[in-house]
Parts: sequence; structure tokens; C-alpha cells
Amino acid sequence: MESKILIVEDEEIIRLGLKDNFELENYIVETASDGEEAIIKADEFKPDLVILDLMLPKKSGFEVCRVIRKKHPHTFIIMLTAKTEETSKVAGLEMGADDYVTKPFSIIELLARVKSSLRRANNLKSSEDSTLKTPDVVEFYNIKLDFKKYEAFKNNQSIEMSAREFQVLRYFWQRRGEVVYREDLLQNIWGYTPENMPSTRTIDNHIVNLRKKLEDDQANPKLILSIRGAGYKFDI
Ligand code: CA
Repeated sequence: MESKILIVEDEEIIRLGLKDNFELENYIVETASDGEEAIIKADEFKPDLVILDLMLPKKSGFEVCRVIRKKHPHTFIIMLTAKTEETSKVAGLEMGADDYVTKPFSIIELLARVKSSLRRANNLKSSEDSTLKTPDVVEFYNIKLDFKKYEAFKNNQSIEMSAREFQVLRYFWQRRGEVVYREDLLQNIWGYTPENMPSTRTIDNHIVNLRKKLEDDQANPKLILSIRGAGYKFDI
């Protein structure tokens, strides 16, 4: 079945331009022009992926992101941010966006990011279907992760996490005690190929957020250790 994409953008030219381009690629596309419409469409249309502009009338991209993340945890969210909104990237990831693309963006880049996100989501679904080694629920220290329902708890308190964060943690969990290279994450979780590898900064931003959510003391991480010049080690 074709993937469904919801495009949320208040600027009509961009919104219609994106719609045309994604329909040409055989996606099923719905659009919304403000934050409230976005939430209604997300409920009705149940998109596989949402392209979400940050600056929107009625409700901001952040608010929309938080609501969609809560109600539809398996939906991928790619946030569109302006170049001057550097800090909002990190905030966006905290709100539960899976990825972000900076405006002005090239449609080719955005299509590539959407494709790799959806490919990744499908891989995840098929590996969830198979009896591959990860149990649905894992517990360690004061953390409990449910990879099936996409729920996370620390000290029995619910933590909001994105689909991508669950994927990173699942990947870490499968390789607990081993060094995980940033490039491994970029290829296996983000779906990049060695030829189009972006800056590893993307990974580091995600790890900062994961530590904020999971570690007791993010300045002294005990769970996600940094391995100098290589990547990370999930130490459980
Ligand atoms: Ca806007």
C-alpha cells in the first residue's frame, strides 16, 4: 500500500508545491494550513508521516508535534524549520519530531529524507513482526521501555519519546555493552548510505535529548556512554 503523508504548511505556494511533488512520487497526500486543522487531519487521515512546518497559525508546530506524538506514536514527523531557528531543532526533537529539514530546502533532499524515514519505519514493522531478539518490553535501572506500544517510563513516570528515539534505543539495546558507531546509527536508523552521509551532529543532538530524558544526571551519563572518536555504548 502507498504511504500516506500529511503536509502541514501555512504558505500556500509551498504547501501546494509539496503536494504536487509527493503525489508525483505516488504518495497519498493530505494537507493542512494551520495547527488545528493539522491535528484534525492527523486523526482522520492517519498518515504514516507528517511534514510539519514550525511557524503555523492557531497552534505552533511544536504543539501539533506533541499532540500527534501522543495520539499516534508510530507516525513519523519531519519538522521544517527556518535557518534562523537553529535552537528550535533541538527543541523540536525534544517535542518528539523524528527529523528536521531546514528552510529553504531542496525538494530532492526532503523526498530523500521522507523515503528513508518510511523505509526505516517499514523495516521496523517487519522486524517487529518477526520473532527477532528484542522483547516487547525491556527494563533496566529505573527505566521501562515498551517497543511495541512505544511507551517509556522512568521511575514509573511516563516519558515522551519519538518513534526515532525508540528505534535508537532498540538498536542500542540489541547491542548493549558494545560500541555503537555514529555511522551505524546514521545508516541503520536514519537510512543514509555511506555516499550521502550527513554530519554526525544529528546523532549527537538526539543523544543529548535521550540523556535528558533517561539519565539521572545528564552531565555524568551512566546509561549512554560516549566513546571518544567512535560513538556510544549502551551500558546496562
Ligand atoms: Ca509557516
